[in-house]
Amino acid sequence: MFRITPQLSEKIKHFATFPQTGVSLRQMVMFGQNPTQGTLFKASQFLSEELPIRLAHRVQELEELPHNLSDMPSIVRVKNWYAQSFQDLVEFPHSEMSPRLKDIAKGMNKQADMQALPENSPNLAMPNGPTQNGRRGVSLSHRYHSAMDGVEWPVEMHAYNEKFTKMIEAVKRRHDPVVTTVAQGILEFKQAKRSHLVDTDIQAFLDRFYMSRIGIRMLIGQHIALNKGPSRKDYVGIICTRTNLADMAQEAIDNAKFICEDHYGLFRGPEVHLHCRKDLEFMYVPSHLSHMLFELLKNSLRAVVEQYGTECEEYPPIKLIVAQGKEDIAIKISDEGGGIPRSGVPLVWTYMYTTAPSQSLDPTFDKSDFKAPMAGFGYGLPISRLYARYFGGDLKLISMEGYGTDVYLHLNRISNSDEPLP
Ligand code: ADP
Ligand code: MG
Repeated sequence: MFRITPQLSEKIKHFATFPQTGVSLRQMVMFGQNPTQGTLFKASQFLSEELPIRLAHRVQELEELPHNLSDMPSIVRVKNWYAQSFQDLVEFPHSEMSPRLKDIAKGMNKQADMQALPENSPNLAMPNGPTQNGRRGVSLSHRYHSAMDGVEWPVEMHAYNEKFTKMIEAVKRRHDPVVTTVAQGILEFKQAKRSHLVDTDIQAFLDRFYMSRIGIRMLIGQHIALNKGPSRKDYVGIICTRTNLADMAQEAIDNAKFICEDHYGLFRGPEVHLHCRKDLEFMYVPSHLSHMLFELLKNSLRAVVEQYGTECEEYPPIKLIVAQGKEDIAIKISDEGGGIPRSGVPLVWTYMYTTAPSQSLDPTFDKSDFKAPMAGFGYGLPISRLYARYFGGDLKLISMEGYGTDVYLHLNRISNSDEPLP
């Protein structure tokens, strides 16, 4: 089993003193268009620095959780994954970089007009060690991109890029079961009942922790996709510059209806009426959008079916309405599923709160980034809100008890909002 040595612990502590650097959607798109091996190499240098810093912040937070939460076996497991990935990332440039590549990495550093390596950086293997003022050696600057085009890169750069991508793919896979394992840790803590830690503390911690996870997985996912080369037109990595909302919504409707009819054994579940311009396109990460729409639709479908019973011949339809403004795209999902009592509304945003029969914490649910079954995990709403906020949007819920619920999903069109960095 992996253990955190005192040396590693020191290194993590040091990295955790540096601020995390946010990357906006627009920056990622500008950087990732037609990348050369040099661009990909530069991105790998940025990640070699940024990911360890983000991971180190998480290790430290997991270590400093109030009361005994840090000692719960599942929390310790998760902390060890973060530390192990930290180690994989900081050791990689050292072990895999030829002197030539090290020189190039240093040159990129200067070219980007950034600060030189501070004397006291513990990470001597990395030419671009963190600098004290938060601006770091490698920036995702567009200027660099055009300046370095047409340069001949040494052959070993391609091999390095491939190896680096494989390494971060393994890191991403290691962290697949993080959500269910942390949830398990919270349960262990509650069972141990050894403290008076209030739930709002746990909620705030989980919001920060899962938000950070979305950011880390976004950076890794984007890098992997760029290295695999262009897949479909309109895509820059995992970002689609022309995400068609009507298509995405219809797909989410079909998937949610299928799960609903299967779950309740219905011949025909509630209809979902879609009101959306067919040509509405915007820049977004389709996997995030479909996750949110799917979760919200499942909630509405469940509420309607449970309100009218499985024998109902014709359910009142759910409406999915899309409005496009200059600033944002707003999506309203309205159902007549009976709503939620006002006192219960704040609860729906808490993790693990569900009125469905509880699902066991099977890590396989985590495989595709938090995908849950029909209901029962209690993560649908809080995680969807994090996804919305990650790119500067939001998610709100208004209930009319006795009638139904409206949820409003706001998505930022400008796409230059700062990345939230807990
Ligand atoms: P889960 O669906 O696993 O229970 P969610 O976070 O998606 O977790 O939702 C939490 C709870 O909020 C649900 O169990 C349900 O009680 C309530 N809820 C969510 N959406 C609706 C809705 N459209 N109508 C009525 N209740 C809802
Ligand atoms: Mg749900």
